[in-house]
Amino acid sequence: MTSSLALISEGFETTTDGHPPAPMSDGSTKNNNSETRDELNPFHSMAHQFGLAADLLGLDAGTREVLRQPDRELTVSLPIVKDDGEIQVFTGYRVQHNFSRGPCKGGIRFAPDVNLDEVRALAAWMTWKCSVVDIPFGGGKGGVICDPRELSQGELERLTRRYTVSIMDILGPDRDVPAPDMNTNEQTMAWIMDTYSMHVRRTTTAIVTGKPIVIGGSHGRREATGRGVMLICREAMKKLGRSPEDTRVVVQGCGNVGGIGALLLHREGYKIVSISDMYGCLHDQGGLDMPAVMDYMKENGRLEGYPDTDYLDNKEQLELPCELLVPAATENQITSENAGRIQAQLIVEGANGPTTPRGQEILDERGVMVVPDILANAGGVTVSYFEWVQDRMGYFWTEEIVNSRLEQVMVKAFHSVADMAELHNVNMRTGAYLVAIDRVARVYRMRGVFA
Ligand code: NAD
Repeated sequence: MTSSLALISEGFETTTDGHPPAPMSDGSTKNNNSETRDELNPFHSMAHQFGLAADLLGLDAGTREVLRQPDRELTVSLPIVKDDGEIQVFTGYRVQHNFSRGPCKGGIRFAPDVNLDEVRALAAWMTWKCSVVDIPFGGGKGGVICDPRELSQGELERLTRRYTVSIMDILGPDRDVPAPDMNTNEQTMAWIMDTYSMHVRRTTTAIVTGKPIVIGGSHGRREATGRGVMLICREAMKKLGRSPEDTRVVVQGCGNVGGIGALLLHREGYKIVSISDMYGCLHDQGGLDMPAVMDYMKENGRLEGYPDTDYLDNKEQLELPCELLVPAATENQITSENAGRIQAQLIVEGANGPTTPRGQEILDERGVMVVPDILANAGGVTVSYFEWVQDRMGYFWTEEIVNSRLEQVMVKAFHSVADMAELHNVNMRTGAYLVAIDRVARVYRMRGVFA
């Protein structure tokens, strides 16, 4: 086997301001001065948020430099034999941002627009997310450039197995533990677990989380991110003095996070007035019957055609009248372009990176409370941690125990962020970064610089 490690770049080129250059989606790093392009670059967003909190913490230049950059980046070429006998070569990435506090943890996404900058940003967000909820992991993320809708099940399996083998040198239950993300699921995790186990000659369930329960998955993992979103909404609503019954909710995205989050919010008494998938959104100011909507989605694979409600273009959805907005689809949805027209008073970020820094500034000026991704969607990684613990103990918990421990972690994290934000008179996002970066920096300084 040719070692994939040959392709690892340890540290990478930086621009004059110390930031890594922003690769374009074609992988080039040519300079692009467009403000919009910068606003939408997720690594720039992450670096901006990091910079604000690092300044407030008075972080020394050396530690700042270490924490700003990914520790390791791996790019791999993935040839597979398609069903028609032709070879097709895909590109995959795994970025490990920081492992001061424990093994890297983070999902793997399969999508046509995956790029290294996105994976870098997502890896860093994982470091801060694990730190905000105080679980002993660092941050990593992976991605494969592909359109899963164009691949058969057999092709997807071969691609997943080839990707696993190609990044295997940097994986391991004590090194880097992947999980599902966009367009990957329990089946993908089962293939990764099997491929890894066959190579190390023993069944190693703790190599990935988000597995099916029969092979070491955890009860409650599938619902964990949505449940975490619901718990964070509850805490934020208490802070704002609002009750679910008089709160209209718009949810963007109808997948693992948005769909399950909306179901749980509906069960708590909130009125879900709109939910979307990538094709369009349902809208009913009287409130949607969420269990029926999700049944329809399961049967039809899309929301369009659901009876007796309006079906609108997605462009309109985020600006619909509501009190609570839950973006739970993808990055860069709330920007300088639309932030001024958003009507919600509370935004709870189910997706990673849905609000750009400029979008956040406009929301701040308008007094909208935003609970940031690294806190709001941390329920998934928290139960992933529980899954990893259970795999390593070989002793499994009931769903009630998982849910009650998740609740403890999320509630505690919410209040530590809210207290920090109040102490520094900053928004919840900066509060969350302050909590997260301070924890990682303290560990980093205590461990010292190995040389
Ligand atoms: P998913 O693939 O299960 O669902 C994504 C949903 O968003 C789908 O319904 C899709 O149709 C919809 N969508 C995509 N683009 C859209 C658009 N432009 N407008 C409206 N809808 C759109 O993915 P997921 O696991 O629910 O992840 C969603 C987000 O949450 C991602 O940002 C992911 O990184 C983040 N996240 C996921 C988890 C998890 O445990 N699954 C944990 C933390 C964060």
